[in-house]
Amino acid sequence: MNEIKILGAYGTKSKGFGTSAFYLDEKNVIDAGNLLKPLEEKSALIENIWLTHSHLDHICDIAYIIDNYFSYRNTTLNIIGLPETIKAVKKHFLNDLIWPDFSVIHMHNSKQMTVRYTEIEIGTRYKIDENSSIEAFKTDHTVPSCGYIFTKENKSILITADTYSLDTAIHLIESRKDINSFVVECSFPSDMEALAKESKHLTPKILFEKLEVLKRDDIRLYINHIKPLFLEKMIKEIAYYRGKWEPKILEDEEIINF
Ligand SMILES: [Zn+2]
Ligand SMILES: [Zn+2]
Repeated sequence: MNEIKILGAYGTKSKGFGTSAFYLDEKNVIDAGNLLKPLEEKSALIENIWLTHSHLDHICDIAYIIDNYFSYRNTTLNIIGLPETIKAVKKHFLNDLIWPDFSVIHMHNSKQMTVRYTEIEIGTRYKIDENSSIEAFKTDHTVPSCGYIFTKENKSILITADTYSLDTAIHLIESRKDINSFVVECSFPSDMEALAKESKHLTPKILFEKLEVLKRDDIRLYINHIKPLFLEKMIKEIAYYRGKWEPKILEDEEIINF
């Protein structure tokens, strides 16, 4: 069976809670919210970071895995995302003001630069290795954003990351039987619906309303990106609104088999 590891499952950092990051394999992660703590020196082996969008809770550990293990690295770190995401990281994060521009700094052990950037397109399947590939799909957030479908041995997991609309994700799940697992965000409790809409996130009530049109019932549902402060309240709300679904609320360092 295929597996991915949840390195960070929550919508903001807090004591004992990490932000979004998914460990696909030794060299590939989706998002960089929480890499350093769970991976320690294995962080130095990461070669590709597939970003969903430019928000800090999804990019922050890029800064620290480079800094901590600078002398261990011997491959360039490839930061991958939509053109707007790459532009935002270059201009507002690794810009020599907030953090060094590592795309012009040589690695300690090599003539190659520490960081490079790769822009991707929605709907194109990118090969990771002989058995696995990854494809971005459009999501609906306050900045340009995407989710990913990770495929291994012809089985797939779909990860939405931050989004308000689930239309594209639901369409993909209905049309692709290889998708057997679905990780969806849910950030705020249902009485904070106005803030959720404005910040383009979901509440338990909105999430399960949107899932009503999804006809498939042979798919495993996982929830991430809960704000830790509201965890207890949202666990109760998810149980109340879940309907036919049996969602699993993800925790840091949990494994998903798909
Ligand atoms: Zn987020
Ligand atoms: Zn976001």
